[in-house]
Amino acid sequence: MTGGEGLASTSKISQQVKRARQMDLHVHTTYSDGNSELRAVVDKAIALGIKDLGITDHYGDLEWYSITSITQLDEYIAELTGLKQLYQPKINIWIGLEMSILNGLPFLQLNKLDYALFEDVEMGPRLSHLVSQVKPQLKIPVGIAHAQVIFLEKSADILEKEKIFIELNTHYPDRYRSNWARSIWQNLASRDIRLSVGSDAHDTKRIGDTGDAIRFMEENGLSQKLWLPSKQQQK
Ligand SMILES: [Zn+2]
Repeated sequence: MTGGEGLASTSKISQQVKRARQMDLHVHTTYSDGNSELRAVVDKAIALGIKDLGITDHYGDLEWYSITSITQLDEYIAELTGLKQLYQPKINIWIGLEMSILNGLPFLQLNKLDYALFEDVEMGPRLSHLVSQVKPQLKIPVGIAHAQVIFLEKSADILEKEKIFIELNTHYPDRYRSNWARSIWQNLASRDIRLSVGSDAHDTKRIGDTGDAIRFMEENGLSQKLWLPSKQQQK
């Protein structure tokens, strides 16, 4: 590598680190089990200087906890689409959704999102089901919410091949800072698997509280693995 290329890649990494520090890609609102209204969440994120805000309300479980109807889901997407345009270029608002169900998903609506997060799909039959039945019908990026890294060792080949990103979620730091995780991170670091960062905020107080995940990436040489949502990523 020449000095010039080294500098170029270093500045690319530092730009990614800067962007990561202004990013929170896992936030809930009153559409599901969050306590703050969507507008209040967006206003707080702008006040904090966040540049990329991902709203990821729950879909598909119990009514008190999630968006459960298609009508509600359409409203959620429509309101977020409106806010996205209204607040450009002050802040990038990304439309996400967090799901634990894998059956009966409304793919027409899901394909209007910027990304989908699935939980408890790190391994075994649920990961196989996600990959064989769900992901082929999705044209949007797919990630694993608050991934338990100790379960990812056996799944690394699949995640890399399927371009499934994994989330460092600061509400569950033990899931990525586990004592047993070091060798798994070493394995993951050598692969083309991206990492997203999210606070899992359920009210305006925790929005942007992603510092621990950013530090973790820096400490472990993973900063260049940051997953970035983008306007062009729909297939
Ligand atoms: Zn969540």
